[in-house]
Amino acid sequence: MTTKYSQQNSIRVRMAPSPTGRLHIGTARTALFNYLYAKKTGGAFVLRIEDTDVARSNPEFEKDILENLKWLGIAWDEGPDVGGPYAPYRQSERTASYRQYLEKLLEEQAAYWCFCTPEALEIERQTMQAEGKAPRYAGTCRQIKPEDAEKRRDAGERGVIRFKMPQNTATRIDDLIRGPIVFGSENFDDFVIAKSLDEPLYNFAVVIDDYDMQITHVIRGEDHITNTPKQYALIDALGFPHVAYAHLPLILGPDRSKMSKRHGSVALGEYREQGYLPEALLNFLAFLGWNPGTDEEILSNDQIIERFSIESIQKSGAIFDQQKLDWMNGMYIRQQGGSKRGPLLELIKPYIERAGFADAFNKYNFNDQSSILALVIERMKKISEFVELSEFFFKTPEYDRELLRWKNMTDEEIAKSLSETQKLLGAISDGNFTTERIDAALKTYAEHLKDKGSVFWPLRVALTGRKASPPPAAIAAVFGKLETLKRIQIAIDKLAS
Ligand code: GLU
Repeated sequence: MTTKYSQQNSIRVRMAPSPTGRLHIGTARTALFNYLYAKKTGGAFVLRIEDTDVARSNPEFEKDILENLKWLGIAWDEGPDVGGPYAPYRQSERTASYRQYLEKLLEEQAAYWCFCTPEALEIERQTMQAEGKAPRYAGTCRQIKPEDAEKRRDAGERGVIRFKMPQNTATRIDDLIRGPIVFGSENFDDFVIAKSLDEPLYNFAVVIDDYDMQITHVIRGEDHITNTPKQYALIDALGFPHVAYAHLPLILGPDRSKMSKRHGSVALGEYREQGYLPEALLNFLAFLGWNPGTDEEILSNDQIIERFSIESIQKSGAIFDQQKLDWMNGMYIRQQGGSKRGPLLELIKPYIERAGFADAFNKYNFNDQSSILALVIERMKKISEFVELSEFFFKTPEYDRELLRWKNMTDEEIAKSLSETQKLLGAISDGNFTTERIDAALKTYAEHLKDKGSVFWPLRVALTGRKASPPPAAIAAVFGKLETLKRIQIAIDKLAS
């Protein structure tokens, strides 16, 4: 073993995504909790790709999973891309190991070949259901002698491999989150562990891999609980040491049903594309089923690691609160916007480009771009929202002349206010065209009119075409004198038309 993989202790955890879809937020949360536990304990975190379902697995999805986990800031010590002492880390490349253990189970008669046809199984299932019983395999092929099974296979009959699930017993799992859970064997039948010697199925492959990779703790979603007794029995049959289990609570939608596409995006990449920051998503995901036991909500990766423990993970479902995510993302955007505007502007650029504003955006220098960001950042919940909030900086706004009207001002009064504003701003020299100077000039005039709105409202609309915007003086300062006076003139012309 190289020093790269030596850890402070022997705790080894893994996450085992199936590349059958884009990285799911639930999978990302599972990855995060495994990562946190490994970091907290000085253990090793393994990423394993579970691609035994050949028909549904796709390298594109594997790429999406790896890329988005990395983007989130979750790093693994061993995996298909970084290698490690127990490589390969892709199940499709581990067939030899599975085959060896399948042969062992068959030899020891802990597993057997089953030749029941799908049609026969379907009839069996329907009969049981009609009798009001939970459908389970009747164990028909358990009786077949191994040598007879061999003969049938030699004669070309196809079969699957079933595991002899122990009968008349109960399995107790001491889940680190949920406490003891007892499973009666009556709920389990002789399940299929492989479709052939080279086609293992999930429950079997997991057990072999966890053993081969020396995994000590299995931290995964609650939806896997019913697989646990099956895996536990396989571990016993193979004589492997048991692992510890921690089943994470389900992620629920606001209606408390299991989170699904119905509730919004479930692919982490979609959140990334919509303009959520990795730090915010990581913080948010950590709180899906866990909290530090204080009222702290904004925590960095390191702070979360420091406060994390398996014992503080909750049993009950974790509600995915989109509003909270938006709030958190806004907090992170503002945190980054403070000292590090440059990196934030870089994140904004792709959205600007997509909206077709690249040229207009680049006409502003870095300082002005930063000023625009500063003007809208308070209202940004997502990076993508920058475009919507600041659009008027990049194109001449279109609006109805009626929007220029403040209260019951007449067209003449509005035009007069705008002309006066134009004159006052025109008198400020280019070099002094700052928010403060503009504000000072307009305030004196507004005081004279005794209604601030009659000056600032038409100006706001002239500059932005909107009812709500950052302060007009600040916008004018970014535009510069020429553009400001031009937009005021357009408004005056609108009134005259
Ligand atoms: N491949 C499984 C999944 O994507 C995970 C299996 C496990 O963690 O045991 O849900």
